[in-house]
Amino acid sequence: MSSLRHNWKTEEIQAIHDKPLLDLIFEAASIHRENFDPQKVQVSSLISIKTGGCPEDCSYCPQAARYNTGLEAQGLMKTDAVLEMAKRAKNQGASRVCLGAAWREVKDNNQFDQVLDMVKGITNMGVEVCCTLGMLNENQADKLKKAGLYAYNHNIDTGQDYYKSIISTRTYDDRLNTLKNVQKAKISVCSGGIIGMGETKKDRIGMLTTLSNLTPHPDSVPINTLVAVKGTPLEKQKEVPIWDLIRMIATARIIMPHSVVRLSAGRNSRRAQDQALCFLAGANSIFSGEKLLTTPNPEFNEDKELFSLLGLKETPAFESSQREKKQPAFESSQREKSQAASLTQ
Ligand code: SF4
Repeated sequence: MSSLRHNWKTEEIQAIHDKPLLDLIFEAASIHRENFDPQKVQVSSLISIKTGGCPEDCSYCPQAARYNTGLEAQGLMKTDAVLEMAKRAKNQGASRVCLGAAWREVKDNNQFDQVLDMVKGITNMGVEVCCTLGMLNENQADKLKKAGLYAYNHNIDTGQDYYKSIISTRTYDDRLNTLKNVQKAKISVCSGGIIGMGETKKDRIGMLTTLSNLTPHPDSVPINTLVAVKGTPLEKQKEVPIWDLIRMIATARIIMPHSVVRLSAGRNSRRAQDQALCFLAGANSIFSGEKLLTTPNPEFNEDKELFSLLGLKETPAFESSQREKKQPAFESSQREKSQAASLTQ
């Protein structure tokens, strides 16, 4: 079985990333099958509980108050309304509900208390709850854990060297520090990044190097492609070629074999055959539902059609981290290999 490593070198990752494409996909697909049921894809739904008006300057983000994107800022949603949306998402097949707030950081105030109530309420519905609320200290992470939070998303966005070209209002180390606080609270870590922001291949490999050297690896690794929004500094960026996305997904699958790799933002413009290749290369999670925070995303019924076409099914809640369930499949494949070897001896 593919073993977990936390000492990947940049050159090693680059060599994997640059393999002939079909070899890369084959290797990633094989590792995917050793570690996961390849028919299962986790379906998450993302609710923007507080939209826009963010003081940060992330160049890709229409929610940054300083960019003129025409986005209408909205305060924190009422808890009942969020619970209602979460219930609908669950009924449509989501096993994870993510709550996103356009904040720089969590503050110990009444709004955080409301978020804790949302987390409790949605956890009681029997789905995984993930939050993405900005920077977090240890105490706040503990409070979220006590409220039942399953996962926390905090992306490192890109490679360390390129990070300062994209965001100036907080540092790479700030990001890593929040991830540490989440890990300490024993909350599942969701962390990945975005490609298509003008970064080089070296920056992309740098991002994967950082993620794969975290101990443990993030449980979920979202690979986003930029959705260029008018009014943001990155509005003129071209869409990332599908082959670049597939290479990133396959490389993430190979170097972090136990992590759920999420085919994330930017999926709306991809054809079914493009997405099929991403699943083959090891992606096993998506966001479903008409909007991904503020940008368009495939609706639940479109994804149901896609799943039916490809013979995929939704991963039930709380199963993606129970990898021991896949052990028998691996053991039988190992048995087959040893039987084949003994026949040739
Ligand atoms: S990505 Fe998050 S932190 Fe950055 S501007 Fe957007 S909402 Fe704010």
